[in-house]
Amino acid sequence: MTVYLDHNATTPLDPAVLAAMLPYLQSRYGNPSSVHGPGREARAAVDEAREQVAALVGAHPSQVIFTSGGTEANNLAIKGVANTFASDGCNGLAISAVEHASVIAPARTLERGGWRLHTVAVDTDGRVLRESLAAALGPYTRLVSVMAANNETGVVQDIGALSDAARSHGVWMHTDATQAAGKMALDFEASGVQMLTLSAHKLYGPKGIGALVVDKSLDLAPLLEGGGQEAGLRSGTENVAAIVGFGMAAERARLALAERQAQMGALRLSLEVYLREITEVELIAPDAPRLCNTVCFSVKGVDGEAMLMHLDRRGFAVSSGSACDSGTAAPSHVLLAMGIAEDVARCTLRVSLGKDSTLAEVEAFAAGLAVEIRGLRNLSLRATA
Ligand code: PMP
Repeated sequence: MTVYLDHNATTPLDPAVLAAMLPYLQSRYGNPSSVHGPGREARAAVDEAREQVAALVGAHPSQVIFTSGGTEANNLAIKGVANTFASDGCNGLAISAVEHASVIAPARTLERGGWRLHTVAVDTDGRVLRESLAAALGPYTRLVSVMAANNETGVVQDIGALSDAARSHGVWMHTDATQAAGKMALDFEASGVQMLTLSAHKLYGPKGIGALVVDKSLDLAPLLEGGGQEAGLRSGTENVAAIVGFGMAAERARLALAERQAQMGALRLSLEVYLREITEVELIAPDAPRLCNTVCFSVKGVDGEAMLMHLDRRGFAVSSGSACDSGTAAPSHVLLAMGIAEDVARCTLRVSLGKDSTLAEVEAFAAGLAVEIRGLRNLSLRATA
């Protein structure tokens, strides 16, 4: 049995979510665009899910545009804005240094197309430096993108304050809330952002479905054109079953938020107590505001990838850096941006707890980690002797 402690990579499907989805994979197969009964049934299900997702983030249902996930929503936000300003000639875009690849890559594509890309620096806690953001808000800057919470470190940004700064320069703001949703309260209207990214599989929903929440006063250009679904911003027949699952997952996350936060927060504290007892372990950004479920730490002198494999053999599923970037040997850009040395960054692990994680699992993990550290350090001492 695997002890799964990698919920920032993905979460298991909630059985209640699966139950809500099943009819739309079986008997309720209508196309929401059809005017007949089966079509109207599917449309009603999509509309209800839109309300459920909107309620999770304090948005109006009409502001929710379903996409194939967080990656597509981030691409739509960044490239959609670029298309809007395409004829302006000289434009700027600012993203923080700790964004997910699905923000960085489209931003770099725009840069290659002539956009000025500003990378906003973070402090040693991984929090955006206000001076750096202010410097990026030039007369040509069109959009700022800063994630609500980081997938690797769990560090939470002060999105309200950052969006105030952007707004005072007339600049649009996007936030990738893929990791924040379901783990902290989000309020689209109050936060002052114009676009917000969500992904269902981080909150016990299915993979391959997400949303971009958009202030409709933005003249955003779609990535995909066709039948004009999703208010023309995302053409293609809706993935009804996945959308229904996303809606159910969002509703359950909203109703259980306080309970999940308390449960995961208490477990995170326990885990940190155990980790602090291991001399080789150093917590990353321990005093920064962080998600209730995420602990990132380095193990002195032990390669993170090697440790990950040893822990995997012991039955613990954790992550080193970002699972989305795995396969690349480079140390995490997030940790480097925080001023963490390359050799330390290579030795980091991420534990991300879930709503069903238990104290027994956390204790077993801490004990297993301590044993593996001793083993791996002895090996490296022998190798250098
Ligand atoms: N943004 C962040 C912060 C993420 O952690 C992820 C998933 N690793 C994504 C975006 C991409 O979401 P999806 O997997 O739904 O494409």
